[in-house]
Amino acid sequence: VKLQRTELCSLIQGITEMYQDPSAKWQVVSHLDQNCPLVLADKSRLRQLFHNLIKNALEACEELPAPKVEVRADVVDNDHLEIHVCDNGPGIPQEAQNWIFEPYSTDKPKGTGLGLAIVRKIVDEHHGQIRVKTSPAEGTCFIITLPILASE
Ligand code: ADP
Ligand code: MG
Repeated sequence: VKLQRTELCSLIQGITEMYQDPSAKWQVVSHLDQNCPLVLADKSRLRQLFHNLIKNALEACEELPAPKVEVRADVVDNDHLEIHVCDNGPGIPQEAQNWIFEPYSTDKPKGTGLGLAIVRKIVDEHHGQIRVKTSPAEGTCFIITLPILASE
């Protein structure tokens, strides 16, 4: 892992653009802070993190009439970035919340159960934190906080 000064918002922008669906069956949108701060990050590891989260999000809501994934990044308290990856899927049942980050744990017929284990590892490598907010009515948000670099 090689941490370098990174403009996270342009990285997120690039990834969400990759997920645009030409047939407009689903939507992946981003809301990014105008002057996005620098964070210490390994770009390729963070790309992996966002792909894993967005892939899960799309898989969770693909059966809906209007699947939607939203990615947002906001500066909080001037010292960290809070990143939300949210979907309008069915949510994660209470008991499943205990195992979703475990390696090889999946409820998908062809799942590997590795996506979130890798996500958690990458968050740790960046000295960040991850939490989940989920409900059947509102869907699921994975919320990641990362320390930002003090501007000089
Ligand atoms: P996989 O996608 O191969 O199943 P993951 O580690 O990526 O493995 O996810 C583990 C499990 O967490 C999934 O099988 C699913 O049950 C649950 N999960 C992850 N993301 C979501 C989400 N956005 N909405 C609902 N369930 C989710
Ligand atoms: Mg997955």
